[in-house]
Amino acid sequence: MFARGGDIRTEEVVDVRARRGGVRVCTGAGLALQADVAVIATGASLAHLARRCGVPVPAPVSRGYSFTVAVDRPVPGPIYLPEARAMCTPHRDGMRVAGMAQLLDPDREDIRDNVRSLIASARPLLEGVRWNERGDVRVGEGPVTSDGRPLIGATPVAGVHLAGGHDRWGFTHGPVTGRLPAEQITTGTRPEALRAFDPLRVAVKWRVDTGRPPVASQVLSAAGSPS
Ligand SMILES: Cc1cc2nc3c(=O)[nH]c(=O)nc-3n(C[C@H](O)[C@H](O)[C@H](O)COP(=O)(O)OP(=O)(O)OC[C@H]3O[C@@H](n4cnc5c(N)ncnc54)[C@H](O)[C@@H]3O)c2cc1C
Repeated sequence: MFARGGDIRTEEVVDVRARRGGVRVCTGAGLALQADVAVIATGASLAHLARRCGVPVPAPVSRGYSFTVAVDRPVPGPIYLPEARAMCTPHRDGMRVAGMAQLLDPDREDIRDNVRSLIASARPLLEGVRWNERGDVRVGEGPVTSDGRPLIGATPVAGVHLAGGHDRWGFTHGPVTGRLPAEQITTGTRPEALRAFDPLRVAVKWRVDTGRPPVASQVLSAAGSPS
């Protein structure tokens, strides 16, 4: 890539817009970078820049969380607790507990409530777990669409593409997510395989709450004209 003139910069991008036959990428440090094309692939933060380009990605993301607890005796193997919606696995001298991914607004929801609720559900099902001795709480998050498919393709802003929304499949799908938009950008023709992932497909009804189906007004406002 470098041999072909490539350059890598690490900057926080705050805006992407069409400018003089190409795109302008504005950074938080006040830089304005000019490019022929931009691909927004900002993972769980996709909503902000995508919305500015006319794709109404919702702020809530799929959030999974896990933590480690101390145990009185070694855990012999993985334990699935469907009633508690938890998966427990041996981890060093303790046990790693992972909850189900949930749709949450990262700016409003406090993950500690989910951890407490998971513990309340799992506590009656397991003996010898010292739930108060826990640590290494981690949260993983990613945008997720109502039809479960990622958003890959052109936005209404000329020269700006989107590649994200893979939820828990981004490692697996990453290589092809890179290759197909590159083909579209360099040839000007959208590969047929990308049709189902059009960021503006009408089939996407954004889930904007925390698990319940969206009410009609939310679907309409989320799928309507971008602001
Ligand atoms: C616990 C966990 C386990 C998983 N296991 C698997 C698995 O087994 N298999 C699988 O396929 N997938 C798995 N996934 C999902 C996978 O991690 C994601 O789907 C994938 O990382 C998404 O890739 P991405 O490039 O779209 O986004 P990310 O990997 O999130 O990358 C986005 C990048 O953009 C940067 N960024 C964000 N905002 C800005 C900005 N404004 N300006 C500049 N940079 C910005 C971020 O810092 C980040 O580096 C797992 C996820 C989690 C949380």
